[in-house]
Amino acid sequence: MTDRIRHLIEPHIQDLGGFQARRLLPSMALGLVGPFIFFDHLGPATFPPGKGVDVRPHPHINLATVTYLFEGVLLHRDSLGSVQEIQPGAVNWMTAGRGIVHSERTPDRERVQGTTLHAIQTWVALPAEHEETDPWFRHHPATDLPTWTADGATFTLIAGAAYDRQSPVQVFSPIVYLDIQLTPDARVVLPADYSEQAVYSVTPGLQLDGSPLDQHRLAVLTTGVSVTIASDRVARCIVIGGEPVGERHKWWNFVSSRPQRLEQAKQDWREGRFGHVPGETEFIPLPEEPNAREEQPI
Ligand code: MN
Repeated sequence: MTDRIRHLIEPHIQDLGGFQARRLLPSMALGLVGPFIFFDHLGPATFPPGKGVDVRPHPHINLATVTYLFEGVLLHRDSLGSVQEIQPGAVNWMTAGRGIVHSERTPDRERVQGTTLHAIQTWVALPAEHEETDPWFRHHPATDLPTWTADGATFTLIAGAAYDRQSPVQVFSPIVYLDIQLTPDARVVLPADYSEQAVYSVTPGLQLDGSPLDQHRLAVLTTGVSVTIASDRVARCIVIGGEPVGERHKWWNFVSSRPQRLEQAKQDWREGRFGHVPGETEFIPLPEEPNAREEQPI
């Protein structure tokens, strides 16, 4: 840890039935980085023929889920009737607002030969005044996202604004979400554009301001400092950040600025008031009280 790194978060590893998920947010040390309240690194996983990912329909409120794949393919369905496959490099942004239900599964045809999954799943808290907005879902193929090469690295701007560029993904508050692929001897300066920023090491081989950053660590930067991200081999990192949106309460898949809203969401899911996902018959039941914080990641 240096004076430039406020928290160095180690992953909490979960086995999700055949593959590993590393949870970096929320952590014991920290709840949010900018509006990011949840950060999972899924896989890389290889599934044998006949197997795949099956995240059954489950609800969200008052946040947006953001799916970004390195490898594999997932089929998203939701209670608005959206049916969308996502491929590596594309973004699925789902604003839950006042409530939505969705599922994520490996498409049937991908199960025949066996499949892979390597992805980052994040949740973005909505500003309090937008928490109850109408739910919506949008898919952005990889070709829609700003991508450029500089200083030995290839940048993809998944969401928000950085380096005088703007992602077309609609957001609700100042945010940055970057994928940076580094070649050996790359040196990238990350400016202090947002009061909260963090660098996640997808691979080994990264240094922050000359100090090694172990693989699978979320380095939360001190406010106002710019850092240099370097690599001694082919490496990859993710940058998240933005401006704070205030405190959030979290229970299972529910996030809200108001604790009583979580109680309402629990009751609504228990009583089947969230809506139905066309094409689905299953669902994830509400976990037993009271401790649901380690449940269902996606
Ligand atoms: Mn979900």
